[in-house]
Amino acid sequence: METAASNAPAPTRALATEAVHAGREDLVEQGLHAAPIDLSTTYPSHDIEAEAARIDAFAATGGRLDGPPVYARLDNPTTARFETALARLEGTDSAVAFASGMAALTAVLLVRASMGLRHVVAVRPLYGCSDHLLESGLLGTEVTWTDPAGVAAAIRPDTGLVMVETPANPTLAEADIAALAHSCGSVPLLVDNTFATPVLQRPVEQGARIVLHSATKYLGGHGDVMGGVVACDEEFAAALRQVRFATGGVLHPMAGYLLLRGLSTLPVRVRAASVTAADLARRLAADPRVARVHYPSVGGAMVSFEVYGNPRDVIAGVRLITPAVSLGSVDTLIQHPASISHRIVAEGDRRAAGVGDRLLRMSVGLEDVEDLWADLCQALSARRAPVRTAGEHAPAPGAAHAVPRAEAPSAPESHPAVR
Ligand SMILES: *Cc1c(COP(=O)(O)O)cnc(C)c1O
Repeated sequence: METAASNAPAPTRALATEAVHAGREDLVEQGLHAAPIDLSTTYPSHDIEAEAARIDAFAATGGRLDGPPVYARLDNPTTARFETALARLEGTDSAVAFASGMAALTAVLLVRASMGLRHVVAVRPLYGCSDHLLESGLLGTEVTWTDPAGVAAAIRPDTGLVMVETPANPTLAEADIAALAHSCGSVPLLVDNTFATPVLQRPVEQGARIVLHSATKYLGGHGDVMGGVVACDEEFAAALRQVRFATGGVLHPMAGYLLLRGLSTLPVRVRAASVTAADLARRLAADPRVARVHYPSVGGAMVSFEVYGNPRDVIAGVRLITPAVSLGSVDTLIQHPASISHRIVAEGDRRAAGVGDRLLRMSVGLEDVEDLWADLCQALSARRAPVRTAGEHAPAPGAAHAVPRAEAPSAPESHPAVR
């Protein structure tokens, strides 16, 4: 039986060290170098009474089992390594992994709703499907949308959660986590930290109680594994494990293995891509074809920008950059939120949250900055027939094309500052 998953306190080490060692402390002792993958769905036991006691203990507390998991929907040693490592990086007691980011958010909402706390206060913009899950009330929750300043006033006796993304998808708008946590009082604040990752920001240090990740993005980091994870205190983690057991949104152990491997290069990947992203943000802000650039003060590898021309021309024109939804991979991806990632959000709500029709969201990877800039430049200059989709107004004549430098409407200095 593996024991790496224990939450035994480890000496405080730098993030880069934790990224390659957390969750793997027992490997040398076991004569191993790479983490083993345990694909078992069930675990043998000749002792019925001991097994029954362990099941009862889990049902009562949701705590981690001593010894093997009984059944893979309760726990898995490979996934547990990833959970241990992510908790260490976020500075929390525990973490609980799920099949996807949406499965993770679902479990959080169900934990609170099962306590009768069905009301959620949320700050827009959120990731499109998170917005949809709350707005649809699919899980029996009710949402009040507000801006950070309105959070305190929106809280009711039945409010179970305050939810924010910072930097937010896709505008990269930032919220002051400490101020928000203060506004929440005793209501837990959930911060979706998918964009910043614990490399750039640890929300729990600023007063958040729950940190959510779409592990599909930077934690995995290679566009080949889907997962979600919630980092939190052990009390909330226990409740999440019980919901995970009851509803079944478990992470596959192979995904757990890939996510643990992804964590080991997370600091290096995030820092390298952030340098390139900040450089591209500066170049875009000085480019007359670009109306506005959004880049977070916390840094990161995401850049959003609004073009004067038709954003569809840019998507159609990129050659090195991959036109695709999702983010956080080693290669650079670009997408048009109004058409793709935030299509599910009602048009009025989407626009009010700052997600305009000319906004493009780019996830910067590890390619050389000059190659990326060359590709962006040629895509920004591409002239194609304007394509219209439902809900999109026809661009003004001429506006569908890139604005040549000589006709630039304003000097780069007068463009809204990169932020
Ligand atoms: C992708 C994403 C999610 C959803 O995660 P999945 O793994 O796709 O289910 C949630 N929040 C943010 C910020 C995301 O980018």
